[in-house]
Amino acid sequence: MLEIQNTLVSLDLAEQFFCCDIEKCLGQCCIEGDAGAPVTETERDTLNNILPEIEPLLLPAAKKKIEEEGTSYIDEEGDLVTQIVEGRNCVFTCYAPGGICQCAIECKHAEGRTQGFRKPASCALYPVRLTEYEKFTAVNYHRWNICRSAEKNGKRLGIRLYQFLKGPLTDHFGKDWYDELCEACEAYLAEYGDKE
Ligand code: SF4
Repeated sequence: MLEIQNTLVSLDLAEQFFCCDIEKCLGQCCIEGDAGAPVTETERDTLNNILPEIEPLLLPAAKKKIEEEGTSYIDEEGDLVTQIVEGRNCVFTCYAPGGICQCAIECKHAEGRTQGFRKPASCALYPVRLTEYEKFTAVNYHRWNICRSAEKNGKRLGIRLYQFLKGPLTDHFGKDWYDELCEACEAYLAEYGDKE
C-alpha cells in the first residue's frame, strides 16, 4: 500500500498497466454487473436536475425505469447506485455506431447541457474504486475480466493505471495528491521493478 495524505492506495495502481481499448471491450463496464454505478447524494440530485436534457438519448426501457423508480436506488450492499435495466445495464447508457456503449450524461456534457456535470465520479475513476473508512479512503484496482484488453493495451503502450487515470484522480483528490502519488509510484517501481 502507498500512503498518500489521508488515502491508502493499492500497489496495483503502480504495477498494473492499463489503457482502455474501447473498440475491443465496447465499453461493457456500462452494461455489465449486477448493480448500477455508485453515486453520491449530490450527484443523484444533479442527475435529477439535468434529466430532461439527457432523456432524449436514453433507450425506451431506461426512460420507463426512471419514470417508475427514479434515477438511482439503494443496492444490496446499501450503496446508492444508478438505476439499471434488465438487471445489469446502466439506464444512462446509449450506443455509438458499432455497438460501443457511451455514457449519455457525458455525451450531453460535451454539448454543454449538464451544468458542468460530466459523469459520476465512480465512473470517471473506474477501474479504480474508492472505499471510505472512518480515518482514510482506500483506493483499489477493481480487476474485471471485461477489462483484459485494457491491461494488454496498457502494457503495449507502457501506460500504468495511475498514469491512465491522471485526469480523474487529479479532479477527485487534487494536484498535490496526484503529484505525491506519482512520486510514490515512481519510487516504488524504481526499487521493486516491473512485476508485469
Ligand atoms: S473500464 Fe474496462 S470495460 Fe470499461 S471502457 Fe475501460 S476497458 Fe472497457
